[in-house]
Amino acid sequence: MSSLKYIDELAKNREISAYKLEKILADDECNEYLFALANATRKQYAKSEVHLKALIEISNICQKECFYCGLRKPNKELKRYKMSAYEIIGYAKQAASSGYKTIVLQSGESQAFSDELMCEILREIKNTGMQITLSLGEKSYKQYLMYKDAGADRYLLRIETTNKALYKKFHPNMSLKNRIKCLVNLKNLGYETGSGLLIGLPGYTYKIMAKDLLFLKKYDFDMVGIGPFIPSKNTPLSNEKVANIKLVLKANAITRLMLVDINIPATTALESIDRQNGRKMALLSGANVIMPSITSGKYHELYSLYPGKFRLDMSVENTYKNFNDMLFDIGEKVSLSNGNSLRYNERMGL
Ligand code: SAM
Ligand code: SF4
Repeated sequence: MSSLKYIDELAKNREISAYKLEKILADDECNEYLFALANATRKQYAKSEVHLKALIEISNICQKECFYCGLRKPNKELKRYKMSAYEIIGYAKQAASSGYKTIVLQSGESQAFSDELMCEILREIKNTGMQITLSLGEKSYKQYLMYKDAGADRYLLRIETTNKALYKKFHPNMSLKNRIKCLVNLKNLGYETGSGLLIGLPGYTYKIMAKDLLFLKKYDFDMVGIGPFIPSKNTPLSNEKVANIKLVLKANAITRLMLVDINIPATTALESIDRQNGRKMALLSGANVIMPSITSGKYHELYSLYPGKFRLDMSVENTYKNFNDMLFDIGEKVSLSNGNSLRYNERMGL
């Protein structure tokens, strides 16, 4: 049976049962209709404006062992690095003068940067006037508080999947419970909080995916990043299949219809699978944020979560211009606002 009526129900009510969501995921006949509705919803709320946020991959050192990720601690083949505070602040200043309104600092999960050093870096970046997003993994409430006080505005921590068995299997020595606790702490501290999913891990099903999507709705996140699993060498999942890109676009679109005014990035992993169209397809199915890496080649190569991770080999300034032109070509423009989601502004009364 066609999923059309369920898509209409979702667009009208902004919520839907897991059973009906599963039907939408399993039926590919109405994909174009789903994408068009999500795109129209994005345009209605985000006014054809796309946020450009500069990503700096500050360290590839990681203490965790996520089965899918090339940065996992047991990967002894990878040369590890940690940028100096001077380098990070230098990148941030270049980003600010190129027009970016937000800097995103991402790394493996470790204490490679002491909390004091991280706070100094945050204070320096804050002086540029940009908003700061962090994606440094699971930290204690006290650490999140310190970073917030030092100037961090937003935090990205994907739940990856809410399925207990899959989570346990692919995340040794980690717990779903703690991941959720971190997300709740971030929200309580007033961060603009983002989560998201890794689609297509071995054993992933429509049923699991439907529940994962409903988790994002239930926790009412301000930002949601959904990306495809890409097998990475030197990991236990190196011989598995790459995720189905259509399914990721459908997850984006469904998220846009459930959470109309949040920020949704067109993830790098999508572009890495389809260099020509990955990001454009994501925008046309509901995404409204692009996060280009501005980390120079030598570090970007080593920040190898998966093979072929996309990056424009250009200066920070030209990367901005490139995306500006790409957006112009498809009738969009770069947002000049501070990059907050409308959802967050409303929640905080801003
Ligand atoms: N260490 C932090 C964390 O895990 O939250 C932040 C950095 S981590 C590299 C950022 C994201 O990369 C993860 O949330 C995960 O979904 C994604 N990732 C890791 N390995 C991947 C792979 N093989 N394919 C696609 N995405 C991957
Ligand atoms: Fe480390 Fe994050 Fe990769 Fe897990 S996903 S191994 S925490 S960098």
